[in-house]
Amino acid sequence: MAAAERTSSGILAEYEPVVGLEVHAHLLTRTKLFCSCRNRFGDPPNTNVCPVCLGLPGALPVLSREAVTLAMRAALATNCTVQAESIWARKNYFYPDLPKGYQISQYEKPLALDGWIEIPGKNGGARRVRLQRIHMEEDAGKLLHEGFPWSDEKSGVDFNRSGVPLIEMVTHPDLRGPEDAFEYLVALKAVLLYAEASDCNMEEGSLRCDANVSVRRRGAEALGTRTEIKNLNSFRHVARALEHEIARQVAVIESGRAVVQETRLWNADRGETAPMRSKEEAHDYRYFPEPDLPPLRVTAEWTEEVRRSLPELPADRRRRLVDQHGLPDYDAGVLTQSRPVADYFESVAEESGDAKAASNWVMNDVLRKLKEDDAEIEECRVTPASLAQLVKLIEDGTISGKIAKDVFEKMWTSGEGPQAIVEREGLVQLSDEDALEATVSEVIEASPDQVAAYRGGKKAAIGWFVGQVMKKTGGKANPKVVNRLLRKLLDI
Ligand SMILES: [Zn+2]
Repeated sequence: MAAAERTSSGILAEYEPVVGLEVHAHLLTRTKLFCSCRNRFGDPPNTNVCPVCLGLPGALPVLSREAVTLAMRAALATNCTVQAESIWARKNYFYPDLPKGYQISQYEKPLALDGWIEIPGKNGGARRVRLQRIHMEEDAGKLLHEGFPWSDEKSGVDFNRSGVPLIEMVTHPDLRGPEDAFEYLVALKAVLLYAEASDCNMEEGSLRCDANVSVRRRGAEALGTRTEIKNLNSFRHVARALEHEIARQVAVIESGRAVVQETRLWNADRGETAPMRSKEEAHDYRYFPEPDLPPLRVTAEWTEEVRRSLPELPADRRRRLVDQHGLPDYDAGVLTQSRPVADYFESVAEESGDAKAASNWVMNDVLRKLKEDDAEIEECRVTPASLAQLVKLIEDGTISGKIAKDVFEKMWTSGEGPQAIVEREGLVQLSDEDALEATVSEVIEASPDQVAAYRGGKKAAIGWFVGQVMKKTGGKANPKVVNRLLRKLLDI
C-alpha cells in the first residue's frame, strides 16, 4: 500500500485522475412531475400523495409543463441544445420506495445534449467542462430508518418525494481531480440558482452527486477502469471521496492488481469508499419507451421564449464585473456565485463609486457575517446604501478604516446607518494636524530607544510609532496625517 501512504502530490506526478460527475437536481416546481401533488420538502410523511405518485394500478401520468420549462432553463443556461423531441422511458428496478417497480426517466433521447459550464482555469481565465446530456426523471420516495418508536424493528416509507421532478446532468470525463470537481459543482450550483431552476439545497437532497473516477499513467491515452462513487452529499465530501478513491486506485495498480469496475459507497465517517455492488449494465434496467406518455415535443418558439427569459448568467456577469468595475478575477468569481450577492455588490459599488472597496467589504465582512449567522443576504440588515455610505465615510477621511470595522459590527446588529453611529459615539477621525502633533510629540519623547533605532536606519520602526499614536487616540487618528507628522518630527 505504498501509494496510499504517499502524498497526493506525489501520486499526481505519476498518475492522472479522470473524473466525470452526474448531478441530480430537484426542479423548483410547485407540483410533482406527473401529478398535481405539492412538491415541498419537510411536510409530514405521506401528506403530498395521490394515486399517480403512489403508483396505484391504472393511474396515468400527466406531464407538468412547468417542470419542462425549468429543465429547459437549466439546459439553456448550461449551453446545451434542447432536443425538438425527447422520449420518456421506463427504468425498471425493485425498491421499497418505488411502488410502480419502475421510474419514469429518459434514456435514448434525453431532453438536451452537448453543453458546457465554465470553471476557473489553472492559470487564470476560464476552462470548459463539457456536458454530455441532461435528462428529466421522477424521484423515488424515501425510506425512513430512524426517528420513530418502531424504528428498531421496521422502516417506514415516505412518498412525498415520489414523483418530484429531477434533472440529471452528466459531464464528459473532463475533470482532472478533486479540485476540478469542487470548482465544477460551485459553478453548476451558481448557474442553476441564477436560472432559478433548482434551489440546490444539498441538506434537503435537492442536489445529489455521483462521481465516475479512474486513473491513468500520465501521458497515457486510454482511460483506466472506472468506479462509480455514490452518496456524495456535500461538495466537501465529493472532494474528499475523490482524493481517497484516486489514492486507492493507484495503490491497487501499483500492487499489480486491476481496478474492478464497481459502484462504491462513500463513508464520510470513516473517510473511505467501500464496494456497494458490481456495476449494473444499462440493460439491467430493461429500459423501454413509456407507453403512458407521448414523446415530449419542444417547439423552437418555446425554446426561444425560455432563452429570452434567462437572466445574465454567472460566467457573463463575472466577465462584466471584471471589465466594467475593474475587479480582480478572483473577486468577480466569489461575488457572482449567488445572484443576490452580486446584486448587493453592484448596488454598493454604484452608490459608493469605489468598486474595489465595495468588493472587499462584501467579500470579507458581509459574507463572513452571513456565514457566522447562517443567514442569507436577503436577511442582511446592512443595506447596500448604508454600506456605500460607510465606504464614503472612510474615503472622505471622516472615520479610519479600523473604526469602520467597529461601526460595521454595530450596523450589522442594529441595522442603523453608519452616520448615526459615528455621530452618537464620537468616532469621527482626528485629522487636525495641530491637535495630533501634540500626541505624536508625546509618543516620540517617551520613546528615545525607538527614535534612535529609527534615526539609525531602521525605517520600519515607523509602524511602531503609528501603533502608539493609535493606542493613545482610541484608533481615531487619521493614519495618513499621523505618518506625515511622524516623518516631519523624526526625519530631522
Ligand atoms: Zn401525486
